[in-house]
Amino acid sequence: MTRMLIIGPPGSGKGTQADRISERLGVVAISTGDIFRANVKGETPLGVEAKKYMDAGDFVPDSVTNKMVRDRLGEDDVENGFLLDGYPRTTAQVDYLDEILAIGEQKLDVVLQLTADDEELVHRLLGRAKETGRSDDNEAVIRHRLDLYHEQTEAVVAKYAERGILTQVDGIGGIDEVTDRVMQAIKAAQAA
Ligand code: AMP
Repeated sequence: MTRMLIIGPPGSGKGTQADRISERLGVVAISTGDIFRANVKGETPLGVEAKKYMDAGDFVPDSVTNKMVRDRLGEDDVENGFLLDGYPRTTAQVDYLDEILAIGEQKLDVVLQLTADDEELVHRLLGRAKETGRSDDNEAVIRHRLDLYHEQTEAVVAKYAERGILTQVDGIGGIDEVTDRVMQAIKAAQAA
């Protein structure tokens, strides 16, 4: 049973690594960004609401995001654990997640942070923009998303560091190389 988070700046490869961890540990990966994008694509009311924030590189309001995560964590497939990718991103979301977990008498085992230098991330994301045409991958929006990460999500990381469940992994390198580091870090954290 593993309940874990993966946190990292935009472009750090957290989605890719989350899919691999999910496969290897047999836990469901839940990406709030993916859920929002699926809703945008399906033009659901949630998608229409989220799109304006996503296109500007802003966070979708906590009230919307928290409810979505609560509903998702209420589904049956998370009974054997989960890997949350992209949530929590604000300290208010940390508090909310604490409340959801407390109701089920659950706790997080590991919080994994992928680290990377800002300029490397901008370079990577501009490359991804050409391939995927994601509407939030242009330079001004990318820099704004990075600023939000530093301003808000680093405080989230600090909270988990204080609790002693944070493990950091260098996200620069080949995808397989980073996966090896990630799997080793998870093993070490679980053994601790
Ligand atoms: P991601 O794919 O994780 O980079 O997320 C893409 C976008 O979805 C973000 O830039 C936000 O607009 C929105 N989003 C994803 N997760 C969250 C979250 N936990 N809180 C607020 N907004 C989020």
